[in-house]
Amino acid sequence: MKFQYIDTHAHVNFPEFDEDREVVLRNALDEGVFVVNVGTNLESSRRAISIAEQYNEGVYAIVGIHPHEVMELEKNGLIDSTLAELKELAKHGKVIGIGECGLDFFKIEEYNKGVTVEDVKKVQEKVFRGQIDISLALDKPLMLHCRDSYSETLEILYNYSRVPSVKLRGNAHFFAGSLEQAKAFISCGFTISFTGVITFAKNYELLIKEIPLDKILSETDCPYVAPVPFRGKRAEPLHVKLVVQKIAEIKGISTEEAREQIEKNVKQMFFDSV
Ligand SMILES: [Zn+2]
Ligand SMILES: [Zn+2]
Repeated sequence: MKFQYIDTHAHVNFPEFDEDREVVLRNALDEGVFVVNVGTNLESSRRAISIAEQYNEGVYAIVGIHPHEVMELEKNGLIDSTLAELKELAKHGKVIGIGECGLDFFKIEEYNKGVTVEDVKKVQEKVFRGQIDISLALDKPLMLHCRDSYSETLEILYNYSRVPSVKLRGNAHFFAGSLEQAKAFISCGFTISFTGVITFAKNYELLIKEIPLDKILSETDCPYVAPVPFRGKRAEPLHVKLVVQKIAEIKGISTEEAREQIEKNVKQMFFDSV
């Protein structure tokens, strides 16, 4: 497998790309940019797989249930059946990981009227643990989504990772925590990925300088957070080059050096078992 760059967390499976999905993916592949489309529920996970099936190489899927989706499932009594179906989807050869999954406590009260915060947290944790179990059972890494929940997420991961027989691994996507938290994720078997946000937000410099290059991955989270000079527009996988360029700039190394190491990191994390 040969690629120049890889967008490890894209959503070309989302409706924002319905009009020109093939063109967007072709533009990326022509430039040596591989794409991993990430699901947030069963439907977008299935779509990520069917898109990946259309390409011999270069387009992959990660399947999972985003924490924002879990209360709707709970309300309809669908959590266990959804996790069971997710596990079946995850066995597909184009699926290289489980997620995006995790805990998201951002504006939790506002988003969950009529339910207690404690209940929402409990359901999020249940579905997260269900996906950790799938990751371990199938030996496919996790794609973590955490927002305002770093310490709670780390506590869960730590308790898994300290069991000697457990081979926990994955990537903490859209990282926005502290350096201490980044180091804690790394010690639990995780890499850390950054989006186009690092091209315009200044508070990432110390973090990127201090996190070892062999623990960093690149992503766009497209269609969201386009990098400079595309801010406010729809992001796409091709923009991942600008993310790698910025990582190199902050670290004071050549873009090629950063690119090459990230290529190795991604192969090690996501492609050793596929
Ligand atoms: Zn996310
Ligand atoms: Zn995402």
